[in-house]
Amino acid sequence: MFLVLTSTEIKISRTLENGIEFSCQMCGKCCTGFNEGEVYLYKDDILRLTEFLNIVGTKRLHDFAKKYTKVINDSFFWKEPGRERGRTYHFKTLGFRFTGEDEHCHFLIENKCSVHVARPFQCRSFPFWQMMVSNRKNFVNYTKKCKGLQVLKGKFYSKEEILNWATQEYEIEKKYFLEMKKNNFNILKVHPYLSKEMLQE
Ligand code: SF4
Ligand code: SF4
Repeated sequence: MFLVLTSTEIKISRTLENGIEFSCQMCGKCCTGFNEGEVYLYKDDILRLTEFLNIVGTKRLHDFAKKYTKVINDSFFWKEPGRERGRTYHFKTLGFRFTGEDEHCHFLIENKCSVHVARPFQCRSFPFWQMMVSNRKNFVNYTKKCKGLQVLKGKFYSKEEILNWATQEYEIEKKYFLEMKKNNFNILKVHPYLSKEMLQE
């Protein structure tokens, strides 16, 4: 689930131009087999999850971060206002740590998300990530594994709704990037509950 976000001007591929019907069929495949990608976690995701799991206090937050999260690579294209050219920045971000031989999310229990109401933005916004919305090939690739994208039945999402999800994703990533930039890309300042050892894993 790598995110390479480049622009607020999100183009919608022809596949989604007229909207689609989509409902999760609970096959659990997108919560398993993370050798193909990651689930990124942002501050609001951590807040929502820890509130839901009733994790309070610094020690418990540290333990939560160590058990359920890991530090992963991220990138973001950014052009300073007024500059002609921008560049892609590479930095660290937070993602779920996975478990078991099949590399499943810790919160996937009996093929169901045990934190459904508090699941991260990336889980909530699937399949309307920018990389899928604007790129037909990426969308078709995910169709091979997602049952919901194979049956295409259920709730109707219009072009506007689809673009709204993808734009929200861009804005969340931009907010994180700008905060990291302000903190000299030191993830320990942005996520103080992480331990230094996690950076070396
Ligand atoms: S939080 Fe829930 S939806 Fe997201 S990867 Fe884990 S089990 Fe799947
Ligand atoms: S792969 Fe698709 S159908 Fe299966 S759990 Fe994920 S979103 Fe739902």
